[in-house]
Amino acid sequence: IVQLYIPLNWFGTYYRAIQKNFVDMENMFDLLAEDPEVVDAPGAQDLIIKEGVVEFKNVSFSYTADRVVLRNVSFTVSAGKTVALVGPSGAGKSTIIRLLFRFYDVSDGAIYIDDQNIKDITQESLRREIGVVPQDTVLFNNSIKFNIQYGKVGSSDSDVVSAARNADIHERILTFPDNYETQVGERGLKLSGGEKQRVAIARTLLKSPAVVLLDEATSALDTQTERNIQSALANVCANRTTIIVAHRLSTIIHADEILVLKDGEIVERGSHEELKDRGGQYAAMWRQQLENDQAGAPHSTQPEGEVK
Ligand code: ATP
Repeated sequence: IVQLYIPLNWFGTYYRAIQKNFVDMENMFDLLAEDPEVVDAPGAQDLIIKEGVVEFKNVSFSYTADRVVLRNVSFTVSAGKTVALVGPSGAGKSTIIRLLFRFYDVSDGAIYIDDQNIKDITQESLRREIGVVPQDTVLFNNSIKFNIQYGKVGSSDSDVVSAARNADIHERILTFPDNYETQVGERGLKLSGGEKQRVAIARTLLKSPAVVLLDEATSALDTQTERNIQSALANVCANRTTIIVAHRLSTIIHADEILVLKDGEIVERGSHEELKDRGGQYAAMWRQQLENDQAGAPHSTQPEGEVK
């Protein structure tokens, strides 16, 4: 497992199995649906990060022939900036993330990172430069230290502690029976959703990728946990090109651009302030959130009844 960062295509028939482990770890992707057609192009080069600009150019995508899931989606995330994706369940937000990680190839259009079409670069180099903070992080049956260090195998103890601090999980780890050596996972100490997400943030801080993809947890977190996560997330996004799939609008008020997706199309885009005043979909979602807040319900961008 620790060798995941060697080029995956060296493994021949083991390729799928190795990739499966990778996906299991960054659990936001639906492995079973993954397209076995995605292979490195002949003579594919490694991705060279210059600034970390991500661009979707007229991207359309279908999982199956009978239905278009993304239609002509175009946007650019400038180096170090944050773009948030919001919209009802099934709008295509996670699909955008999966395409950028190249678990599928686009049906039409193209995705570029620093002007390199991701179809033309090695998958291994692409995935090395992208960090993922999934909704639900799978922990290894190993020490908490191992689980964080996994972000950059071989990193020093002090780097692990520093990542844990910046992810707001260090203090919590000190309360575990064996501190950083405490066994976690299925057969060890069980962590809460918020704690697992902070482990994923610590891993990503260690990995220090140019591009970060965040899939915000849909589950309701208590206010204090959410506040801790917010500051940890701010650390992981700082100076990195970030795409957030947001389920709580409070997370993305400061995003540089918000894209509102509906039925696979971008129907609105702008800053929180701009969209709030526009009286469209986003404004309606925002009003809904304020009402939920007053009613004491958890934040959600997903209207009732639309949740899958
Ligand atoms: P949510 O907020 O619920 O996570 P989303 O906006 O992220 O939703 P996607 O997961 O991108 O939505 O899904 C977009 C559409 O594609 C949905 O209609 C979904 O049912 C469909 N879809 C997703 N994955 C697959 C798949 N593997 N095969 C076929 N259709 C899929």
